[in-house]
Amino acid sequence: MFTKNLQKRLTQPIDAFRKLGDTIDTPHGPLTHIDNGADILAVGHLDWVYWNPRPKITRQFENVRIEKTPQLDDRLGVWVILDVMRAAGINVDVLLCDSEEVGQSTAQYFETTKRYNWIVEFDRAGSGAVMYDFETPEYCEMLESVGYDVEVGSFTDICNLESLGVAGFNLGVGYHRQHTKKCYANLSETLDSFRKFQELHKRYGSEHLEHVPTPTTWWRTPAAGSSWEPVSEPTDDLALQALQDEYASDEYGVRYNELYESEKARIDARIDYDFNGA
Ligand SMILES: [Zn+2]
Repeated sequence: MFTKNLQKRLTQPIDAFRKLGDTIDTPHGPLTHIDNGADILAVGHLDWVYWNPRPKITRQFENVRIEKTPQLDDRLGVWVILDVMRAAGINVDVLLCDSEEVGQSTAQYFETTKRYNWIVEFDRAGSGAVMYDFETPEYCEMLESVGYDVEVGSFTDICNLESLGVAGFNLGVGYHRQHTKKCYANLSETLDSFRKFQELHKRYGSEHLEHVPTPTTWWRTPAAGSSWEPVSEPTDDLALQALQDEYASDEYGVRYNELYESEKARIDARIDYDFNGA
């Protein structure tokens, strides 16, 4: 079973990835773009919740098992997009992000003049697929036609890439119990998912899968147990201010005035959208 560079990707410090492409430093850490002249953008994140400097890797019959390695989220996905892709002869551009685990993926700072066909990420437990705001019945059908179960997810790096105007898929990469010290993966499951991706790429790799960006909604996620209150039309500046305040307290407890300018701009854009249906 293919394992080239696996150990390396699971143990390299974040800074070691800088030299692989063009790196910018953002308020939330580095963002590295590797331009291979490809039409597909493959995304992963380098940060982790827990770190084991000595991943436990065991060869088994038709499987390689990795245990007690919490950084499999998302170093396993990083290995897939850097090393498995290359071994499979699939050329992709790569975007390596930081701070995904704190909801501030540096993908939000990505700017490009390139026009991609679509975006893929392998940062999903198990072997299903999620599309977040990229989801349409047509894209569901596409993913199901190659064997993926379409599931519902909350957030990953590609959620910050809607402005690229193309579809994004987050595909199962086979890790389980992520965000705990007992995180494990079976490469048989990882590579099963990759084979489905190969088929997806074969069928649709050259198609431009359009996505009309919706204003970012991450900060509007209702707290557990609560539900959305209907938003009424603002009648004056005071109402607008009240709404701005309401939108400003998100699940991370971030207050509007403490946000970065780019984050404020996104909230303002969302408010504008809600008021004016931009
Ligand atoms: Zn992750």
